[in-house]
Amino acid sequence: MKSLTRRNFNSLTAKGIGGAALLSSSPFACAMGGNQGKKKLGIALVGLGSYSTYQLAPALQDTQHCYLAGIVTGTPQKEKAWADKYGIPEKNIYNYQNFDDIANNEDIDVVYVVLPNSMHAEFCVRAAKAGKHVICEKPMGISVAECDAIINACKEAGVKLGMGYRLHSEPYTQQVKEYVKEKTFGDILFVSADAAYRSTGNPDQWRLNKKLSGGGALMNMGVYAVQSTIYGTGENPISVSAQEFSTRPDYFKDTDETITAQFKFPSGAVGNISTSHNFNANAMYVSGSSGWFQLQPANNYGPLSGETSRGDTIKFPHESQQKLQMDDFAKHVLFNEPNLAPGEMGKRDMMIVEAIYKSIANGGETIALDFEPGYGFGG
Ligand code: NAD
Repeated sequence: MKSLTRRNFNSLTAKGIGGAALLSSSPFACAMGGNQGKKKLGIALVGLGSYSTYQLAPALQDTQHCYLAGIVTGTPQKEKAWADKYGIPEKNIYNYQNFDDIANNEDIDVVYVVLPNSMHAEFCVRAAKAGKHVICEKPMGISVAECDAIINACKEAGVKLGMGYRLHSEPYTQQVKEYVKEKTFGDILFVSADAAYRSTGNPDQWRLNKKLSGGGALMNMGVYAVQSTIYGTGENPISVSAQEFSTRPDYFKDTDETITAQFKFPSGAVGNISTSHNFNANAMYVSGSSGWFQLQPANNYGPLSGETSRGDTIKFPHESQQKLQMDDFAKHVLFNEPNLAPGEMGKRDMMIVEAIYKSIANGGETIALDFEPGYGFGG
């Protein structure tokens, strides 16, 4: 088994694999576009739950092109704790009621919405109306209609929109995309992807409450598996059929526990996903006409790990995925670099999620999907 060498790694970055994420412009470079002259963009996190607390805020201490400038919280006790910890001035602290005043705050360039899924649309639309660029956590909303509302609000306001799909900024996922694009393992014939964890905590948590989450495992982890099948084939699916399994109905009263789904792709490739709140799974496997590759883990915070039929391991130095993701979005805003996870990607995934739920409701019926080629693909 051989690992990727430093030379291979450098050549990958030179070819653009991970280049956007791993090579950065000078922090003193003059910014282009609407935020001209800014060296770093100010980000305000909306919703200070576990993802903001343990991933995004720490990552924002290391980002080169953006920094933690403000917070929006519904919990007054968090205001002082966060202000003390991160040196956030009082004028950059908002609650859900006075949030719209953020329009007048020049310190804040980007609003990052990290709330329960059913609140994404409201706060993304309000952020866009306040003239701020928007990052929306996954899933984008709880319906395609909500995704449209966010996309349209950002278009109307002339602000940029990115999804919190951190994997597009990290090198293992970028390597997968490169294998597929370069046909390193031939034509892709099959992809399988699993994204799941076992939930045993508070049954009243918002993730198990459909009104707040929009759905269960599929909305939460399933979007990673759906994404893996798409970047594992380089195509959007043309149809899906799906099944739901429930083994702990007393715990999963309101939301889906386990879902499997099968996809067809325009090239003839087929795919299979599983997602669950009842078991642990975190992998993707891709079989081509001349070999295979796999990542396991494939979708956690890293380091990821992979191997191929050539006998090599896929290995990259570890960096915070969230840091890479937020810097990539900042470079999109500041320097017009590609948007690796645009809003259309979030909408496409929600269209697939809705098709999966429709198939289940219709007893596993095959549901056709009709995307323009490459719809929702990032730059
Ligand atoms: P969390 O439960 O830890 O935090 C949710 C936050 O929303 C809390 O601060 C809570 O006070 C606030 N909130 C406001 N109104 C609420 C309400 N009515 N009910 C419950 N909470 C309410 O959740 P989290 O893990 O931080 O997830 C937040 C979002 O981030 C979700 O959309 C989730 O899918 C996404 N997320 C993404 C990743 C990723 O890797 N990209 C990882 C974790 C979470």
